[in-house]
Amino acid sequence: MHYDALVIGGGLAGCATACYLAEAGLSVALLERGEINRGASGQNAGSLHFQLEHRLIHHADALADELQHYVALTQVAIDHWRGIEAELESPLELAMHGGLMLAETDEDIGLLERKAAIEQAQGLEVTLLDAAQTQARAPYLSPAVRAALYCPHEGHCNPRLLTPAYARKAKRLGASIVTHCAVTETRRQGNRWRVRGALGSGEVCEWTSDVLVNAAGAWAMDLGRMANLHLPVFPVGLLMNVTERTALFIHHLIQHVGRRLSMKQVDDGNVLIGGGWSARLPQQHGQWLPGRPQVDMAALRANLRTALAVAPGIESLRVLRSWTGTTGITPDQLPLIGAVSRAPGYYVAAGGSGFTYGPTYARLLSELITRGEASHSLAPYSPDRFAHMNMFMG
Ligand SMILES: Cc1cc2nc3c(=O)[nH]c(=O)nc-3n(C[C@H](O)[C@H](O)[C@H](O)COP(=O)(O)OP(=O)(O)OC[C@H]3O[C@@H](n4cnc5c(N)ncnc54)[C@H](O)[C@@H]3O)c2cc1C
Repeated sequence: MHYDALVIGGGLAGCATACYLAEAGLSVALLERGEINRGASGQNAGSLHFQLEHRLIHHADALADELQHYVALTQVAIDHWRGIEAELESPLELAMHGGLMLAETDEDIGLLERKAAIEQAQGLEVTLLDAAQTQARAPYLSPAVRAALYCPHEGHCNPRLLTPAYARKAKRLGASIVTHCAVTETRRQGNRWRVRGALGSGEVCEWTSDVLVNAAGAWAMDLGRMANLHLPVFPVGLLMNVTERTALFIHHLIQHVGRRLSMKQVDDGNVLIGGGWSARLPQQHGQWLPGRPQVDMAALRANLRTALAVAPGIESLRVLRSWTGTTGITPDQLPLIGAVSRAPGYYVAAGGSGFTYGPTYARLLSELITRGEASHSLAPYSPDRFAHMNMFMG
């Protein structure tokens, strides 16, 4: 069967890209080895963090130019999120009533000031609050919090709802979604891509396409290898926790500029706590395996202690569940979005804060594919920045 585009991976990146390509009139099939939304896209914290994260601001010198572009793209993502429930015609438990990035030490405050300068220069709405202003806005925070950067657009969305909503819309627009189909081979033949996949039944199927989109998340590198490409996306195991329900008292997305923390309370009253604490990836014979990472109890305790230090009101809450997921990280922490020049018709959408930016990356990538140019440049994220890794790949 021939399609204009084959998209591999049924997470947010894949489902949203398939949806926008179908909307643009392309014939599209999406191939997913398991079920839709069972990877990082369905396991994440659901934070819409539009402020530069802890992991990025600590490398602000090395990433100076890229961060300017990143912040400029944030405004595009904010506008996109504001209209997303109408666009997908689905309620997504979306809340965008503001986020606070906290500082406790002089060093933290210095980082916040630096971050505010980068963000404000690109027009992102952020306000630096001193201790009293922070307490007035968020009385549930500890007096140890000495300053905070407030962004009125931050918030959260239910990760169990977003990707399925894209998959449903993609189907309505005529895309074919094939689950339980593990792609095992991708080959360039003439001016087409030839893709083989093993169905759950054991049957092997073959498709051809003009365009191939690698949206395999943390496994984008494995998929790249099938096309004789090095795509540097490395799997990382992450931890999340959720407490029992309580009356609503945390009204913001809470992050910390110097410590790993993300915390929010959803409308049902549960408090979600995460922020980049690690979980152990399964291994066999020195290879990472795609299964669920294991909870690391030391990381779990440290994550909860960090949350408790800034929001003492959570002390009496029982943790209902901790879970893990696997995301993909690149050597420079920026996503890998765009065309691979040495492999005509091959596109990648992987890495980065792929929940917050996933819908926007997918829309821009589909513009690049269908019109040759995206309405907001994706140049800093081009996979070609790692072209040197493929110089000898034949
Ligand atoms: C615990 C955790 C918390 C996070 N919190 C946040 C957050 O708060 N905010 C934020 O912005 N980001 C967050 N992230 C990151 C975000 O979830 C990811 O960047 C994003 O979901 C990646 O989407 P994806 O579609 O690229 O990958 P995935 O959702 O992992 O999808 C990739 C899919 O590809 C499929 N696949 C792989 N290989 C093959 C193959 N050979 N054949 C067929 N299918 C294949 C997989 O089965 C999988 O379904 C978090 C991640 C984790 C793990």
